[in-house]
Amino acid sequence: MSQNDLLFERAQRVIPGGVNSPVRAFRAVGGTPRFIARGEGAYIVDADGKRYIDYIGSWGPMILGHGHPAVIEAVQRAVTEGLSFGAPTEREIELAEEILQLVPSCEQVRLVSSGTEATMSAIRLARGATGRNKFIKFEGCYHGHTDALLVKAGSGLATFGHPTSAGVPEATAQHTLVLEYNNVQALEEAFALHGKELACVIVEPIAGNMNFVRASVPFMTRLRELCTESGALLVLDEVMTGFRVDLRSAQGHYADLIPGFKPDISVFGKVIGGGMPLAAFGASRDIMKHLAPLGGVYQAGTLSGNPVATACGLATLREIRKPGFFDALSARTRRLVDGLSAVAREQGIPFCADSQGGMFGFFLLPELPQNYTAVMRTDKEQFNRFFHAMLDAGVYLAPALYEAGFVSAAHTDADIDATLHAARDAFRQAL
Ligand code: PLP
Repeated sequence: MSQNDLLFERAQRVIPGGVNSPVRAFRAVGGTPRFIARGEGAYIVDADGKRYIDYIGSWGPMILGHGHPAVIEAVQRAVTEGLSFGAPTEREIELAEEILQLVPSCEQVRLVSSGTEATMSAIRLARGATGRNKFIKFEGCYHGHTDALLVKAGSGLATFGHPTSAGVPEATAQHTLVLEYNNVQALEEAFALHGKELACVIVEPIAGNMNFVRASVPFMTRLRELCTESGALLVLDEVMTGFRVDLRSAQGHYADLIPGFKPDISVFGKVIGGGMPLAAFGASRDIMKHLAPLGGVYQAGTLSGNPVATACGLATLREIRKPGFFDALSARTRRLVDGLSAVAREQGIPFCADSQGGMFGFFLLPELPQNYTAVMRTDKEQFNRFFHAMLDAGVYLAPALYEAGFVSAAHTDADIDATLHAARDAFRQAL
């Protein structure tokens, strides 16, 4: 038995499913999850000593790769100064200032410890600021595991949803309207019926929880207009895309495509913590003034703005701000998706792929899907065979067809070439 098998057996005795977050269990693809012993740049090494090129990067945060010297040094220095105080520190101001410089739609941010906390607080803030209860989310977008966001579509357009998790009361879902992503008509209908009752619309601008699906420009344009007309706040969930698809986050990219585009509330996580538990939500001063201690919307956290996490996030943001960082990351990620597409084409396999900055997705489909239903047309068995062939060849991709992938600054052209070489064989074996 391998070390991974032994650890998985042992883990399952003491941790439900052997993991602390479900997708890690490899349930979708089958097999034994790899227990990671350490990370080195673009690589992770498992308990059996096998090395993999890592395209998960802790699901997004590791934009610099593992063990970046500037980040490790900042964290080590912070650790010696103290792990947590439950009192404000200067570093929190520095991190807030750093975020605000890059994201002009926000005038203030509040730091929290997870993306789930940040989206939950953003919804509460939107409700508190507007005095309205209802909100819209989109099928295939994931915003963390807070009750009101674990909701799937009701039957028919513009009906309220049902919980997707046991333990969530139907009543919790009664204010959550779930619509199809990129469907402008459904959006118009929902606003016609409920516009004046909507506190907000929450959306992933590039949905990374259904692999990689961009919000189309007409969809995003109309969404912004409808929110403005009805007084609903537009909440951009940039937990995954923030400082990952563009130095200015996805909202900067969309502002290039839609003049004047900006969200009302933004949510960040992953990259801003650089691999430590840290997330944030931000907005104009006018909206943020509703938060306690200034206003009546309560939100708090023992470890919020933790000094070690803040040091890690700050060091990470300072690296990605260096001139040319995003151009190089984007080019390398493009090289990967273009390369995969070429290899698939050579073998006549229906395949398409897309990327923005250091985030990518690929589909065993003839064209890029626009919504969750289209993503789920992927042949799961084919995907699983491809995934395992790549894993055996030392390439660690997301173990589910509905997850995005991530390239870091530590990935080299040689790593991309090795990945393409592995893909050539994996396509042959698996499809
Ligand atoms: N929002 C998005 C877009 C995410 O991708 C995630 C997590 O993957 C979350 C929110 C929740 O963040 P966390 O896992 O830190 O709670």
